[in-house]
Amino acid sequence: MDHLTIGNIKIDIVRKDIKNIHLAVYPPTGRVRIAAPLQVNDDAIRLFAISKLGWIKRRQLNFKEQEIIPPREYKYRESLYFQGKRYLLNIIEADAPPKVVLKNKTYIDLYVRPETPTAKRHKIMNEWYRVQLKRQIPELIEKWEKKLNVKLNNWQVKQMKTKWGSCNIRKKIIWLNLELAKKPVNCLEYIIVHEMIHVLERHHNDKFFHHMKTNLPNWKQMKKELNKFPVSHAEWSY
Ligand SMILES: [Zn+2]
Repeated sequence: MDHLTIGNIKIDIVRKDIKNIHLAVYPPTGRVRIAAPLQVNDDAIRLFAISKLGWIKRRQLNFKEQEIIPPREYKYRESLYFQGKRYLLNIIEADAPPKVVLKNKTYIDLYVRPETPTAKRHKIMNEWYRVQLKRQIPELIEKWEKKLNVKLNNWQVKQMKTKWGSCNIRKKIIWLNLELAKKPVNCLEYIIVHEMIHVLERHHNDKFFHHMKTNLPNWKQMKKELNKFPVSHAEWSY
């Protein structure tokens, strides 16, 4: 069985040498995929899928509600987000090393050599986003290390396709999605707190959400804010 259909929902099934069934809904189209251990039979997968139907539908609705914006071309007057605010892109061609400059709280000036291809512009912008995001993070981690009484060994920024952050609990390292550079700072903080709480509790259980609630009472609102912002095709493809 490589897929199953329940009502109008089609689910891709992948069998793997893993311990637990894993369910995921992917943006932007809401494709559903179940990865199942080799020894789990088709009926068990079907029952599992049925028990998660409400969750699957909510996730799919969530993606539908998000505004889908076309792939970036890095052209003059294109909209770019930085720290939750929309900017307009200015392309300034100059025979000098590339750079990015914020201007008048309205423009992102991208200085590039003439005829710089889109992929290269994308790379320059992402490097700039990375530098900016890396500047925001240490202060927030320091603040939450004290509040949560958790000490991280390291943190990293990485381009991720379907996750805002992740945590290696044993090594006490967190990874933050480069896309967070485009989001409001409270969204970045929410992800940092979420990943740091994983050091205290691996699973999304009552204990985990108790930590969330006591430390960041309005975390649900931040989560909503994070997911309502536009998702771009180019960055969230699968
Ligand atoms: Zn988590």
